[in-house]
Amino acid sequence: RLTGKTAIVTGSNSGIGLGAARALAAAGADVVLNSFTDRDEDHALAADMAAEFGTAVRYIRADLSKGKEARALVEQAGRCDILVNNAGIQHVAPVDQFPVEKWDAIIAINMSSAFHTIAVALPMMRQAGWGRIVNIASAHGLRASPYKSAYVTAKHGILGLTKTVGLETAKEPITCNAICPGYVLTPLVEAQIPDTAKEYDMGEDEVIEKVILAKQPSKDFVTVEQIGEAVLFLCSAAGDQITGTSLAMDGGWTAA
Ligand code: NAD
Repeated sequence: RLTGKTAIVTGSNSGIGLGAARALAAAGADVVLNSFTDRDEDHALAADMAAEFGTAVRYIRADLSKGKEARALVEQAGRCDILVNNAGIQHVAPVDQFPVEKWDAIIAINMSSAFHTIAVALPMMRQAGWGRIVNIASAHGLRASPYKSAYVTAKHGILGLTKTVGLETAKEPITCNAICPGYVLTPLVEAQIPDTAKEYDMGEDEVIEKVILAKQPSKDFVTVEQIGEAVLFLCSAAGDQITGTSLAMDGGWTAA
């Protein structure tokens, strides 16, 4: 049980971040949810989770494209035993036509935000005498695909940061690891299925197998619940000696 621990999950009002946050709350942790919006529904999500799991759940707005706001998120939380760096965006374009502002945003949100949150969270973990950092990277941290230069660069970078922080904290009861999911069935991906099926003139099952999951040998999506369980595993005592490494959850993608 993670009772008494505070977990900050960046980019957690939907998808994988929300799945990880729910798993942590179900395990008894107090949770800080985050995104760049400040809507009633963001705060309602936190209140609903608190009621469902009986732990303290807060929503803190911070735009992680800005280093100062990433640092302020952890400062405002006041405590951080578990840090899940999950916020991320994607943009697809050939490298010579890649919009500069998209490049800058992807590097900032998908990579540099983790540097900023870790820098502020580590002293808190040291003070508490225990800590877990889990960076949500991607199969694209280990393999490239065309037209995803910024995303692939940022995800490779986050694995470098993961190794470095793992070494810097190796003698302490703190670990830093990454999870590298293949395609995960988040609302974002689900929404693309009908349009992609139309585009390729295929049924939805066929387009999932042949187009969306072309690189994923299992031909099945990873679920946010599975990723939540992997985060809990890394937070468990079994994870005490697992540090500076990455766990691929990609249905065999990076085995090839
Ligand atoms: P998603 O769009 O559902 O979630 C992204 C989260 O990041 C959202 O909560 C969003 O509000 C937040 N976010 C975006 N910009 C932000 C900003 N400037 N400041 C703060 N928060 C911001 O997508 P997802 O699929 O759940 O992706 C979550 C993470 O998992 C990302 O890092 C993504 O690269 C990674 N990932 C996703 C897949 C997949 O197939 N879905 C596969 C591998 C890795």
